[in-house]
Amino acid sequence: MPASGIIARAIAAAIIVVAAPVGGSAQPTLKIFDAHLHYNQEPNRISTIIRSPTPTIRSTACSTFFGADERYHPKPGSLGVDELMGALVRTAVRQDAGTPYRTRDDVQNWSTDPAIYDLIEAEYKRGYFRGVGEFHIYGNAAQAPLVKRVVDFAAGRNLYLLAHCDEAALLILLAHNRSAKIIWAHTGFSTPTGRVRELLETYPELMGELSYRGGISEGGGKLAAEWRELFARHSDRFLLGSDTWINERWFGYDTIMQTYRGWLAQLPEDQAKRIAYGNAERLFGGKVE
Ligand SMILES: [Zn+2]
Ligand SMILES: [Zn+2]
Repeated sequence: MPASGIIARAIAAAIIVVAAPVGGSAQPTLKIFDAHLHYNQEPNRISTIIRSPTPTIRSTACSTFFGADERYHPKPGSLGVDELMGALVRTAVRQDAGTPYRTRDDVQNWSTDPAIYDLIEAEYKRGYFRGVGEFHIYGNAAQAPLVKRVVDFAAGRNLYLLAHCDEAALLILLAHNRSAKIIWAHTGFSTPTGRVRELLETYPELMGELSYRGGISEGGGKLAAEWRELFARHSDRFLLGSDTWINERWFGYDTIMQTYRGWLAQLPEDQAKRIAYGNAERLFGGKVE
């Protein structure tokens, strides 16, 4: 989603595994693990608005869903995603991460609200979370004591943090706890590629999620040279996501995945597989089927 938390709506960090046969793709069978997904219950459930003519996603895993006004929890491993997304997705879901929000206002206010820490603790007791996120934080707001508590909480339990943040906040999060495992949502949007490389090489636990990340491909879908270089060095550090932060993103889901497949097809197969699903399987467990 765009950088501003102001326009953030219902936020849900979610993991969904997709294996989508896409017509015309150079890699029609490449599996994709969607490591950044939201299911919004506002204004309408996806199932009421999605009218996909063919199922294009076969999910074996998914994660937490939050509405703006209520928290919604699919039963891990058992929820038919049809319930969520109509004909779009067919199989079971899995909650892997939970965003620390109850309402839309929490997107902006969570870092100073003690109730959010209680929420994270309570959610963790569900026993199946592997991460906290997506959450939004910018600049010095990351210095808030509550933010450090959350980072420490996650680091102490081997949980991933899916952080939508600018570089300033990222550095603060990393300084809070050097063992924190942070997935940088959107990989800084537009942070210079060379700087992304520096950060990956400085912080060995840092991962980059690539939804809305600019510059990866150029005109005509050609993979940019500097990203080819970065993937050649660090193909084990990136994840893909749809970031369905508003329901409209679901309508573009196929396009989002085809864009990924377009540049993945220009990479060596081993690198493409890591980025498409291998890294996510390593982080979250399980296999994309
Ligand atoms: Zn985001
Ligand atoms: Zn998001």
